[in-house]
Amino acid sequence: MTAPPPRAGRPGQPVVAVVGGGVSGLAAAFLLRDAGVAVIVLEGSPRLGGKLDVSEVGGSQVDAGAEALLARRPEGTGLIDAIGLSAGLVVPGTTSAGIWTRGQIRSLPRRQFMGVPADLGELAATGIVSAEGLGRAQEDLTRPADALAGDQSVTSRVGGRLGAEVVDRLVEPLLGGVYAGRCEDLSFDTTLPALAQAARARTSLVDAAASLLPPAGGAQARAETPVFTTLTGGLGSLPAALAARSGATVRTSAMVRELARTPGGWRLTVGSAHAPEALHADAVILAVPARPASRLVAQVAGGEAAATALAEIKYASMAIVTLAYQESAFEQPPAGSGFLVPAVDGRTLKAVTYSTNKWPHLRQTSPGLHIVRCSVGRLGEEAILQRDDGELAALAAADLAAATGVRGEAVDVRVTRWGGGLPQYSVGHLDRVARIRAGVSLLPGVAVCGAAYDGVGIPACIASARLAVDQVLAYLDTRAPAAAGRREAR
Ligand SMILES: Cc1cc2nc3c(=O)[nH]c(=O)nc-3n(C[C@H](O)[C@H](O)[C@H](O)COP(=O)(O)OP(=O)(O)OC[C@H]3O[C@@H](n4cnc5c(N)ncnc54)[C@H](O)[C@@H]3O)c2cc1C
Repeated sequence: MTAPPPRAGRPGQPVVAVVGGGVSGLAAAFLLRDAGVAVIVLEGSPRLGGKLDVSEVGGSQVDAGAEALLARRPEGTGLIDAIGLSAGLVVPGTTSAGIWTRGQIRSLPRRQFMGVPADLGELAATGIVSAEGLGRAQEDLTRPADALAGDQSVTSRVGGRLGAEVVDRLVEPLLGGVYAGRCEDLSFDTTLPALAQAARARTSLVDAAASLLPPAGGAQARAETPVFTTLTGGLGSLPAALAARSGATVRTSAMVRELARTPGGWRLTVGSAHAPEALHADAVILAVPARPASRLVAQVAGGEAAATALAEIKYASMAIVTLAYQESAFEQPPAGSGFLVPAVDGRTLKAVTYSTNKWPHLRQTSPGLHIVRCSVGRLGEEAILQRDDGELAALAAADLAAATGVRGEAVDVRVTRWGGGLPQYSVGHLDRVARIRAGVSLLPGVAVCGAAYDGVGIPACIASARLAVDQVLAYLDTRAPAAAGRREAR
């Protein structure tokens, strides 16, 4: 007879295994810290943090993954506060961004909602769309209401009212910055939920976008409440702090290869096929991307429906090329926080962040330098990512030179690849996520969280972690109601 897998924690204490040590898994571990359970985080790679990572470029700690935290949702800043890091939060030095299109970098209209213009006069002044494109956009104000039938792509819904140019030159670059996806594939209801909601009560999308913005002339008030924030040590410094404050047992290089039901809970097979290790858990939080989550639940009787729905979620790959230039390399200092590049313009670059403009604290650690973060790669552009690091950096630098006139070589370069970096919220995403959660609910004590479900941004990931924590604690309470009063997620 084989011995039962070893248990972590005190005798009788329930064990929760968190699979995946990205921000979602680590947030879940932290939220479980006072719940009277033993928590073990199993991260497959040698490094914690998933899409959060920071390393030195040009003398500064510069994020290689996520770099800006949405401050208008409470979950991210709240978690940072709870772990005692809020003194390290800083606000952007500038938020004005541009679009590199039609031959130059043009100011992004201030009155727009994820690229959907709220003021067509302002849009005209930017020159981002042609006269024909503007004429087509103006039709939105007079077109009859659309007959809406279910979820639609962004191209279909926004393009239907405002025309292809607004989608291609405004909405696609902004949504591309978040999802690295294609508007003809992305779900309007899921990627622009606030606009979708506002549009239900209005005919014009321009009016719907305007209803979501502060009144015109309220720029002062807007400037005082920054939309984004970051940590002086980079958002990549968050995972280690979360792990340390969670009190959980945190293991790296601990790839979970198999999940199996046991009479008392779950057996997780961890590590290589040559030296597998079995661990017992009473409950399991799968905080991994959809593909590994699909593989794990597919092995469990009853998990087939969830596995199928999880496998439907596509992922886009990308790379971040971070370049440090001497200030003198720019004839004109780069202005604003950076610029976005429409896919239709066929450039290598997808987006550029002038990190030393956006985050002024970096100027102190990199005096005399401009640090520029170039984002490359969208869904369907995998070929460009097959170039080696040197070629990729050279292509990004050539586009940057064409856009800004920067001359000469960068003094420091870092290339970071994010294979399968961002889940795609394709048409039907809400229904897909409902099917995933319904399927996972058939597996007692198992919950999912992460970027694949309710939003790719860090606050949404943390919110999904809280939901997963609530689900597993509710399950554990049904097994040991006497302990329920002692368990309370923070
Ligand atoms: C380049 C880039 C820039 C971004 N910029 C921003 C930004 O500025 N602001 C923002 O809010 N968001 C941004 N995002 C999105 C955000 O960073 C991610 O959505 C979020 O960090 C995902 O966290 P997660 O924990 O859900 O998943 P992940 O970070 O993917 O973590 C999952 C972890 O699970 C591990 N894993 C996988 N399989 C297994 C297994 N079988 N066993 C054990 N471990 C496993 C992985 O190694 C990984 O560490 C960006 C994303 C990218 C790629």
